[in-house]
Amino acid sequence: MDNAKPVSDLSGDKQLLSEIECLLQAASELDRNGAGPSRLAVFRLFKGVAPEKWEELASRFGLENWLALPIRPGETPSLDTLQGLVDKLAYQSDHDPLTGLSNRRAFLDNLTVEIERARRTNTPMSLAMIDIDDFKSINDRYGHVCGDAVLVELSELIRSEIRKLDFAARIGGEEFGIILSGSGLLEALKVLDRLRDRIGRMRGYCAEIDTFVSPTCSMGLACYKGSSAITPPKLINEADKALYTAKAQGKNRIVTAALLGLAVSDATLVRKEEKQFLLASNHQPDSSRNER
Ligand code: GH3
Ligand code: MG
Ligand code: MG
Repeated sequence: MDNAKPVSDLSGDKQLLSEIECLLQAASELDRNGAGPSRLAVFRLFKGVAPEKWEELASRFGLENWLALPIRPGETPSLDTLQGLVDKLAYQSDHDPLTGLSNRRAFLDNLTVEIERARRTNTPMSLAMIDIDDFKSINDRYGHVCGDAVLVELSELIRSEIRKLDFAARIGGEEFGIILSGSGLLEALKVLDRLRDRIGRMRGYCAEIDTFVSPTCSMGLACYKGSSAITPPKLINEADKALYTAKAQGKNRIVTAALLGLAVSDATLVRKEEKQFLLASNHQPDSSRNER
């Protein structure tokens, strides 16, 4: 493991140290071989390391995605303990450890289900890709810790702005995805516009340097409506293209992709006001409102 450090300062117990090193080595091999959350590795537990100690070691050596089951000699772990560990493992495999939002894996699973639901029920759904503007400069100017604090605060803001049925995830470094279940273009735009407005007023506090940071975001929106088939990568690609356009047009704005999944005969399903919206070329929400 690249970030493994000598553990010689942990304790004077040589036997314990060599067992810990063996464990880290084995975990590192599995990580290198791509053992993901769908696999289970069982190690014999060594004496002298309490679950709390393991948590500390795991965090030190970047092994937070590993769980240790505390089986002590002559003791059977209670069902509650097992259930707790399984719950924790399930949570870790679906969530981003920094922000607590869902991760890319959960995002793709949810997107697949939502597209299928929209196709079967012939109802709309929307996908927004959101990327923080000039985040590298935020890191460069205020430091990585401060950048992390911005990511956390922005995630909380996203969580608080979306509706119960919507699904938000951190899908990359400073990139987020929101799946707006059952929302057509206008409804999704309303949510995104409100979110962009809130981000525009956000003053993320960085305790490390006692400074407030005000990021902006660009957003790409793609909507799917109708019964013709579409794949998650295609929808993501459309939202991504709209996001790139938002960046190219000056950032801190929302750009909408053409409506997807409409069979010609379904054209009448588009509401009158949405037609007007789609026909109006280069529609942009008022981006000047939030510019500082
Ligand atoms: P643009 O407006 O075009 O999106 O520019 P940008 O600077 O936001 O984009 P770029 O891709 O150049 O830089 C993204 C930066 O995000 C670089 C990377 O170091 C940083 N980053 C990625 N993940 C994390 C993280 O978890 N924490 C912190 N602090 N920074 C991160
Ligand atoms: Mg960015
Ligand atoms: Mg990016």
